[in-house]
Amino acid sequence: MTENPLDIAWILICAALVFVMQAGFCCLEAGLVRSKNSVNVAIKNLADFVISTLAFFAVGFGLMFGASLGGVAGSVIPRWSAMGPSEIAFFVFQLMFCGAATTIVSGAVAERMSFRGYAILALFIAAVVYPLGGHWAWGGAPGASTGFLARLGFVDFAGSTVVHAVGGWVGLVATVMIGPRAGRFVPGAPPLRHHSLPTSVLGVALLWFGWFGFNAGSALAVTDRVSLIVANTVLAGAAGGVTALFLTWRLAGHPSVVGAMNGALAGLVSITAGCHAVTLHAALLIGGIGGIVSVVVTRQLEKLRVDDPVGAFPVHGACGVWGTLAVALFADLEVLGTGLSRGGQLGAQALGLLTIVAWACLSGYIFLRVAQRWMPLRVSEDAERLGLNVAEHGERTDMLDLLTEMETHHQRGMFDRPVSIDPGSEVAPVAVQYNLVLAKVHEERASAEQLRNRLRSANRDLTVLATTDPLTGLLNRRRTHEVLDNEVERAHRGLASVAVLLADVDHFKRINDTFGHSAGDEVLQSVARRLGAMVRPYDTVARWGGEEFLVVCPGATNEAAIAIAERIRRDIHEEPVGIEGQESVSVSVSLGVAVLPPHGAEGWQDLVARADEALYDAKARGRNRVELAKDVREAKRRYSMHAPALGAGPSLAPSA
Ligand code: GH3
Ligand code: MG
Ligand code: MG
Repeated sequence: MTENPLDIAWILICAALVFVMQAGFCCLEAGLVRSKNSVNVAIKNLADFVISTLAFFAVGFGLMFGASLGGVAGSVIPRWSAMGPSEIAFFVFQLMFCGAATTIVSGAVAERMSFRGYAILALFIAAVVYPLGGHWAWGGAPGASTGFLARLGFVDFAGSTVVHAVGGWVGLVATVMIGPRAGRFVPGAPPLRHHSLPTSVLGVALLWFGWFGFNAGSALAVTDRVSLIVANTVLAGAAGGVTALFLTWRLAGHPSVVGAMNGALAGLVSITAGCHAVTLHAALLIGGIGGIVSVVVTRQLEKLRVDDPVGAFPVHGACGVWGTLAVALFADLEVLGTGLSRGGQLGAQALGLLTIVAWACLSGYIFLRVAQRWMPLRVSEDAERLGLNVAEHGERTDMLDLLTEMETHHQRGMFDRPVSIDPGSEVAPVAVQYNLVLAKVHEERASAEQLRNRLRSANRDLTVLATTDPLTGLLNRRRTHEVLDNEVERAHRGLASVAVLLADVDHFKRINDTFGHSAGDEVLQSVARRLGAMVRPYDTVARWGGEEFLVVCPGATNEAAIAIAERIRRDIHEEPVGIEGQESVSVSVSLGVAVLPPHGAEGWQDLVARADEALYDAKARGRNRVELAKDVREAKRRYSMHAPALGAGPSLAPSA
């Protein structure tokens, strides 16, 4: 490290560029997850940066760059007050690296790891996992590492292993431990959608921008290597983007957006370890192979049902490995300056890689196992379904509010209530259209209901029309058949007797002829009213024909039936009927009575025929009379009936 102000300025500028990678990760991940988790992923990116900054300041920096204890760990808590400008600039630069390593994990565990679980994992990575592995490769004095892997010749110029593989592999461990997102590997289930791919593409561009600082800043001075580093960085990223784009195009049949994005990042990760020591053409090859590695590993993870929502492992974990090994394959050994042969260098790279990755995986695993005892690492199923934006941070969105209102409608069938519309919200057009559909459904439902009501009332009218007589409101003949059927059947079973009274208005034709047809109608209505008022509640009065009425009296004996008939005859005869616009008219009726005793076998047609016969007798004997029908035996003789002889004969003389 030099105290040259230009070099210090360079490191500080590069530190600021590396910080921009935080913005890149934030956009990349927030765009790749579902919208219900976008806020959660974004805030995790910010949270891990602030946590890792403090952790690295308090513990990590000393562990990584303090005086080395046998190349295994830095021992001294830095004496901040004794640090010069270049050392402070170096601290700031390394701080940004620590933040980058930590934040890689957030993408791998996105959409289901609890915020608390993630926050303490970030703390552990920044304070222990990253600095210790970093010490082995970069530790001791800045630019002149005394870490044990560095001493063995391990070269990781800007952190393919130290930063990217560490983040990617810890992410993989965490992903496997907490399991895939709900619905990720369910056969036939739709793919989990990305919230906003343009945002993710912007994130890639921001990461790339930051990468210039990440790689070129690692020279720790404005050296003659810086131009090559920047050129290698951009070429490798482009080559990775191109190979991944065409490979996914070939495999999936279309140029995959996520494939191309991750391919470019894979190229950048791959070149990071050797960007200072390879030619431009080698950088193209390293980056291009990195792109292919990311696509292949992504597909492999899917086959193994490991859910890494943003592809953190294929990009950082797998290409971190590739980039580290590529140093031995392509680097100018002079520039590496390790004194190793190419084979020896490959061994050193493999050893360094294996050691740091094993450390990251093991420490990450043990830490998560222990943490699991104290807190759930994964959110509840309900929280996952609802989305972590709301479940973890109480951040509702317009879309979620709309969905909640729609769900209420669905559950309560509230078709008459529109959802609320906030004209400024992006879901307003959806809400407006939904309300239009809702209004239409409501309208259709209302008119269907109206139609049902009309049909119901028409049905009622039809029933009334079919069973009653329109002039008198009494039951009509058709309905009376049913009453007779029922009562006669009860008599057959011996439950009760039944009497029928057939009443006919005397000389009704004369009333019509004298006062007119409508006056005749009034008389019929009046007789009907009086009949209704005179019978018992369980008797039935019906209009049998023109001026003929039938009364059915369940349970009536001969005596009771004659008494009822006699009361009717007397009542109608005693009180004249008033006709509108006329004086009162004196009206009389004649009645024929027939009774079917319990266990009688006669059908109602025969019973009524006997009553009719009795009525005929009453007319013949001078009208305004009651006659009891002949008994069944005589009726049988007269009408050739088949029923057996039953019941008592007429025991009462017809009353006059
Ligand atoms: P009887 O004493 O022998 O029964 O004589 P009647 O005149 O009452 O008998 P008839 O059968 O000769 O006449 C019945 C009349 O009733 C004939 C018919 O025009 C009249 N009529 C039938 N239905 C109605 C009706 O709904 N309204 C009116 N106003 N008259 C009716
Ligand atoms: Mg008559
Ligand atoms: Mg008649």
